[in-house]
Amino acid sequence: MRLDDLAIDNCLKCTLCNAVCPVLAVHTQYPGPKRLGPELERLRREGISTDTEWVEYCLGCHRCDLACPHQVNVSEMIARAKAEHRKPLVRGLRDWWFARPGLLGRLTTILPALSNFALSIKPARFLMSKLMQITPQRKFPSYTRPNLRSPAIAEKESQRVIFFPGCFIRYNRPDLGRVVIELLERNGLTAEVASTECCGVPAMANGNAAEARAVARANVKALAQQVDSGLRIVTACSSCGHMLKTGFGGALVDEEEFAGAAQKIAGRTYDLAELLVEQLDAGKLNINFQLTDLRLAYHAPCHQRSQGIGRPWYHLLRLIPGVTVEDMDAGCCGMSGTYGFKQEKYQVSMEIGKELFASIDAVQPQMVATECATCQMQIEHGTTFKAIHPAEILLQAYGEQKTGR
Ligand code: SF4
Ligand code: SF4
Repeated sequence: MRLDDLAIDNCLKCTLCNAVCPVLAVHTQYPGPKRLGPELERLRREGISTDTEWVEYCLGCHRCDLACPHQVNVSEMIARAKAEHRKPLVRGLRDWWFARPGLLGRLTTILPALSNFALSIKPARFLMSKLMQITPQRKFPSYTRPNLRSPAIAEKESQRVIFFPGCFIRYNRPDLGRVVIELLERNGLTAEVASTECCGVPAMANGNAAEARAVARANVKALAQQVDSGLRIVTACSSCGHMLKTGFGGALVDEEEFAGAAQKIAGRTYDLAELLVEQLDAGKLNINFQLTDLRLAYHAPCHQRSQGIGRPWYHLLRLIPGVTVEDMDAGCCGMSGTYGFKQEKYQVSMEIGKELFASIDAVQPQMVATECATCQMQIEHGTTFKAIHPAEILLQAYGEQKTGR
């Protein structure tokens, strides 16, 4: 019996998962999580072909998993079907690249100025839309040389932690990585930057199970010893956090050599805000924040919600005197990493984001805080408001340092 045979039988067809699915809410033809997950999974396990393009439309937001009262791992079933799905050649090639942000980062940062120029000019974006079906409506984030380094020697009383930066911080925003390191330092924690690969979320999301396994194995090799020595891992990207906390999305579940270590890593991984709240509870958080006149809207990314850690950033931001924060609680932004860059999914992505955009518009904040880089992109694309990582706001509230950008 496979590990989750029981999960299929647990499905009572209550349709609660359908009720929370952001794609189904805007796309009436989408079969929904109940159909694409447990219903078709039964047939797939009987060897009956159920290959359907619709699995490509799943955002991997995990809202169906959270809603299911019977712990059916709905989105994992859909992810497996996605990995089996045969795509047309052009989409397959595009998704091969989208599954490898680490490789893309290494190549684009050989000559970042040239790469940024090439990715920004209209003829190149037109060509990418024609040749790779990447929507010309979106801008690519800028790439910069990967220059994030571990800080010098830790103070004696400081606790060491391993910082898993992920591809976005490593190749696009190393300045945000330095904000993370400084925030930790100011609160009694010294970060050592991990020499790790991509977390594997983009590989899973683009149906590339082999690549997800490869990066998961490399990451386990890079982190296992440090975790065994008692160190904790900290992430500042909700998707990286989700992936590490789920034992690399279960990618290694049937690999004896790696599965145990992946589970240990899962148990020792923390979101940056989780660690800071822990310091707060222990009376060790530096709360000497300056009076900051700022009205914020906060958006909790789906992969933050899926970690089941409450809203630690919302809690931390409200410690800053003068800051008001409204929790948007308005569903998925619709971006889901590379999903919103895909030409055929652009409209769906924007439709999904509409509720969030309207909620932000209604609040008229000075800024939006959200810890996911692609949620930030989507919010800036769908509204007129700037969106930044809450760590930047928190560090700025200490006074001397400006936000990284
Ligand atoms: S919420 Fe769970 S039990 Fe209900 S239909 Fe969906 S998968 Fe089945
Ligand atoms: S993961 Fe999200 S988009 Fe995919 S089926 Fe579940 S709720 Fe819908």
